[in-house]
Amino acid sequence: MTDPNVSYPAELYVRLYERGRRRLRARESETVQVAAAFLDRDGVINNKGHYVNRPADFELLPGVGDAIRRLNEASVPVVVVTNQGGVAMEYLSIEDLDDIQDRMDEDLAALGAHVDAVYGALAYPEGTLRALRKESLYRKPAAGMLYQAADDLGIDLAASTMVGDTSTDIAAGKSAGCRTILVRTGFAGRDGRAEVHPDHVVADLSAAVDLILGPPDSA
Ligand SMILES: [Mg+2]
Repeated sequence: MTDPNVSYPAELYVRLYERGRRRLRARESETVQVAAAFLDRDGVINNKGHYVNRPADFELLPGVGDAIRRLNEASVPVVVVTNQGGVAMEYLSIEDLDDIQDRMDEDLAALGAHVDAVYGALAYPEGTLRALRKESLYRKPAAGMLYQAADDLGIDLAASTMVGDTSTDIAAGKSAGCRTILVRTGFAGRDGRAEVHPDHVVADLSAAVDLILGPPDSA
């Protein structure tokens, strides 16, 4: 799914879909940068805070398909940025992660929605896999995944929005200069890892998309 001409470090999982790949190929000539929606996965798109290590663990939250479809219809690139330190801990393999992402794609497609790219941070300082046992600039609260996506896809970070359910999501978004929205699904900001002040706090992804798209034209 990734472009064979682009290589990424082993600690970064990347999946680019049709539009993501097209933007990657066009980035040399593309001068207009776009505003994207960066979405955390667990607790924003799916599930309520527990770990997702198998496709059967994955369950879309209510309203998410409709919310992402509205972003698709507005041509806002949807970029998933997800910490997957469970790979470093050997709770799941890259193949498991692929299978889970396939499940996400299928569930969203059934609702007429799709994402444009997925970035996953695989390293974890206490990991059991030696190659991934380290601090990582890609792992939120660091903003490496957002910077990589911006570089790959021609994204204007200052015009973009990060939506997450934890303080680490908000910290990463702020660090990259994005607008930040905390949703009350998943951990609902009560992960206790850092004190952060999101620009907005809303009920769920659907309400976040309302903010991202703004009021409908009254033409
Ligand atoms: Mg989360």
